[in-house]
Amino acid sequence: MGSVPVVVAEDRGACPLCDGPMLVQKTVPRNGLTLAHGTFGAHETIHVCAGRCHWPSGSLVTRRAVCLSEALLPMSNAGYDLMTLVGRQRFLHRMQREEIQETLRDEHSIAISTGEVSDLARRFALYLARLHRARAPLLAAALAADGGWPLHVDATGEAGRGTLLIVMAGWRQWVLGSWKISTERADLILPCLRTVLSRFGAPCAAMRDLGKAVTPALDTLRLAGAIAEAFVDGIVGEDTVFPVQARRTVGDPATSVRQSARGRALVERTRVRRFASIAP
Ligand SMILES: [Zn+2]
Repeated sequence: MGSVPVVVAEDRGACPLCDGPMLVQKTVPRNGLTLAHGTFGAHETIHVCAGRCHWPSGSLVTRRAVCLSEALLPMSNAGYDLMTLVGRQRFLHRMQREEIQETLRDEHSIAISTGEVSDLARRFALYLARLHRARAPLLAAALAADGGWPLHVDATGEAGRGTLLIVMAGWRQWVLGSWKISTERADLILPCLRTVLSRFGAPCAAMRDLGKAVTPALDTLRLAGAIAEAFVDGIVGEDTVFPVQARRTVGDPATSVRQSARGRALVERTRVRRFASIAP
């Protein structure tokens, strides 16, 4: 399918510095590739302040087409909508690059290389990570509304490929953080756990396997005050931090459900105890 030529001429508006008129500076070609519009070749008109205003950086005040910058990734011809589709297919539906390439060709008439599929999937992961961090306060509020969150932590490694550390909110089954660490060691795990706690608050319980590294990391956190603060508050009891045979916490829903149920029961018990202790 050929490229569709389009002319992008937005309202030139006024100069943001002097409020004076903007003039056409030049027209530049830019190719685009989006699900919404397919393949197109745009002639983008760039406007410049008639009074030759300059930004503090020294560059001329110019205005590019917002509709293009909102639709296309920076330094790329691909649209945000295309990146999102590729990312979802790769990570949610676990499709291989060639399968994604085929789907784009057959269902959207979009032809991209497997290298471009990889690049878009990588960009999707980066944007998703940034979105995750940006929305942490909202996610933390949802967890708090649940009455807290039991921390599930697991580290799985493949020989020679490092270790993947994952921290989940047990009841919601939300991954709050994941890291590739070189090896399962407490001093590598601790900073990751601290990052999660700084974003989502102290958990109401902690569940982990009997790994040699995760256990001291969690113990250190308790001493350092994160979960310890919850103890002081009386929100959780001593018995809510306990070892579980949870080697398959992540990826085995049945195991997670069992642990969640047990964790929930423990937290409920401690809540009851707490309320009993403050009752007149
Ligand atoms: Zn101006």
